[in-house]
Amino acid sequence: MNKIELLKQHAKALKLISVSESIDAVLEDATLKDSSYQDFLLNVFENETAAREKKAHQTRLKNAGFPVLKTIAEFDFDFQKSITKKQINRLLEMDWIDSVFNLMFLGPPGVGKTHISIALGFKAVEMGYRVTYTSMDNLVYSLKTREISRKSKGRINSIYSSDLIIIDEIGYLPITREEANMFFQLISDLYEQTSIIITSNKGFEDWNELLGDPALTTAILDRLTYKCELFNMTGKSFRLEHRQSLLRD
Ligand code: ADP
Ligand code: MG
Repeated sequence: MNKIELLKQHAKALKLISVSESIDAVLEDATLKDSSYQDFLLNVFENETAAREKKAHQTRLKNAGFPVLKTIAEFDFDFQKSITKKQINRLLEMDWIDSVFNLMFLGPPGVGKTHISIALGFKAVEMGYRVTYTSMDNLVYSLKTREISRKSKGRINSIYSSDLIIIDEIGYLPITREEANMFFQLISDLYEQTSIIITSNKGFEDWNELLGDPALTTAILDRLTYKCELFNMTGKSFRLEHRQSLLRD
């Protein structure tokens, strides 16, 4: 076996991702530039670090489970005036995750609640945080079936090991007393441990009806809002205003 093959075998055994893939190019480059031993090794290690960071980022992005990708660059602040670019830029610094603050985006359909939540989550993933996105419906389903479904258990475990949870669309479907209790348990467990982004089309005054029990609703809202930035988003639906048609002249 020639030396390059041997090198690749060692790299594989040591799980060095980039070395096993790019050693030919790196060696050629070093020969061409007549690199010093130091520069050569530095190049090898830098490549490996970069490859690992890229892979970790891809894994975090996959685990986050975003239904679509949205960015702040795509968000039109002239259309949605109840939240400013300055506020969002502040949030993009992500120090609220370090100090375990929650964010709540409340408002009618189409005003950009999901867009902003995903865009913040996406940026958090880029900065190295572990993020989980879930709709409220899927969350309730996963909580209910975690004892009988491996997939649900996995989803719940990933929530518990995340730095940020995005719970989208609280309020579209009412939940039962049992489901509300499970939700309360989760919020209690995450309290002051994990940042939560919540979006809802319902104001707090309607949450009683939604969760079925005033005492439980107060307990949940108490925990969610203790350290929390609240955004009441108003205005027209972006979807309705920018409705696309195949048949328009
Ligand atoms: P909500 O969650 O409040 O119902 P979404 O965030 O899902 O609304 O927005 C609906 C659609 O409109 C999405 O495709 C989103 O990307 C787009 N959208 C909403 N508000 C804006 C905005 N201000 N600028 C650009 N796109 C927007
Ligand atoms: Mg939404």
